[in-house]
Amino acid sequence: MASRKLLLLPGDGIGPETMAEVEKLIALMNASGAGFETQTGAVGGAAIDEGDVPVSEATMQAALGADAVLFGAVGGPKWDGVPYETRPEAGLLRLRKDLELFANLRPAICYPALADASSLKREIVEGLDILIMRELTGGVYFGEPKEIVDLGNGQKRGIDTQLYDTHEIERIARAAFEAARTRRGKVTSMEKRNVMKTGVLWNEVVTAVHKAEYSDVTLEHMLADAGGMKLVQNPKQFDVIVTDNLFGDMLSDVAAQLTGSLGMLPSASLGAPDERTGRRRAMYEPVHGSAPDIAGQGIANPLAMIASFAMMLRYSFAMTDEADALEGAIAEVLEAGVRTGDIMAPGCRQVGTAEMGDAVAEAFGRRLAA
Ligand code: NAD
Repeated sequence: MASRKLLLLPGDGIGPETMAEVEKLIALMNASGAGFETQTGAVGGAAIDEGDVPVSEATMQAALGADAVLFGAVGGPKWDGVPYETRPEAGLLRLRKDLELFANLRPAICYPALADASSLKREIVEGLDILIMRELTGGVYFGEPKEIVDLGNGQKRGIDTQLYDTHEIERIARAAFEAARTRRGKVTSMEKRNVMKTGVLWNEVVTAVHKAEYSDVTLEHMLADAGGMKLVQNPKQFDVIVTDNLFGDMLSDVAAQLTGSLGMLPSASLGAPDERTGRRRAMYEPVHGSAPDIAGQGIANPLAMIASFAMMLRYSFAMTDEADALEGAIAEVLEAGVRTGDIMAPGCRQVGTAEMGDAVAEAFGRRLAA
């Protein structure tokens, strides 16, 4: 029996509630021999409560040793007062950094059953299927210096540093071109070369990688601000969008709105393949946060978490049939009119987190057995 080591990090707020629905799916798959071995750790506020740090060394070791990490969400008002360096989000940033997860894959898929939940017109979003490939370990979130200095004249200066080296751009560009080859064969690279030196280099390097290795893929360049506009005007023109950490953070949240709800958006963060084993370090997480406003009420939408698990099956374990079955189960349940509050529509049946999870598990089990 295959052994697949998973580290589950539920985190805070709705993280544990939505993770519980994935645990049902893991149990279901293990019953027919999938061989998932799970370990659970604390992260974010939960880890601060346990040990004053947002991720412990023991959890980091477990993450480094796992085949894949499934992450819930971190943060909440309870930890608003903790020092910046040890805030809940620092645990997430450390995981991404130490696992060297440089590529963040955020699909934005608009299920036909949910097209009316988008703030855009149905014809603009129905059937949307785009992938935002965000650089995750470089750029302005990590560049040094990063500080607030006292200028001594009653003024302070906040400094963040945007920097990218050639190899960082090359590897994310390759990841984007590889993904495009399995999709519709088009990459749109977004930066701000008109005002930023990192944008000039980004454009040069993506162009060079394309020319040398991926001329079968269509490449277009777009300024990131224009890209944001096009994303709401005519999103179906895109296939894969590759962009830096900051622009990717914003553009993927714009894409979130296209699909109707944050509760529907999964993501994967991948590292480079290990030269010896071929195994990629990987962490999967919903795009949404800990949603403190609805936490503990059993009403959170677990589909982003479940779809993140489907991405794990696909990208970490090459379990393509199972990933297809799970994504198909999500679509089937939505088509049947089963909805959590965030995606509720007239004529549909409103359910809570567990009932939604059960409905997906039932459809998934049926599809696996077929
Ligand atoms: P959020 O994503 O937690 O919530 C935004 C809105 O969307 C809320 O109204 C929430 O109820 C709703 N929502 C989110 N996920 C949902 C789901 N699965 N089902 C139904 N509704 C859902 O963002 P926020 O309110 O800006 O942040 C709350 C906390 O989460 C903050 O502490 C923030 O720092 C943290 N956060 C963490 C992550 C992460 O862990 N990756 C990401 C974003 C925000």
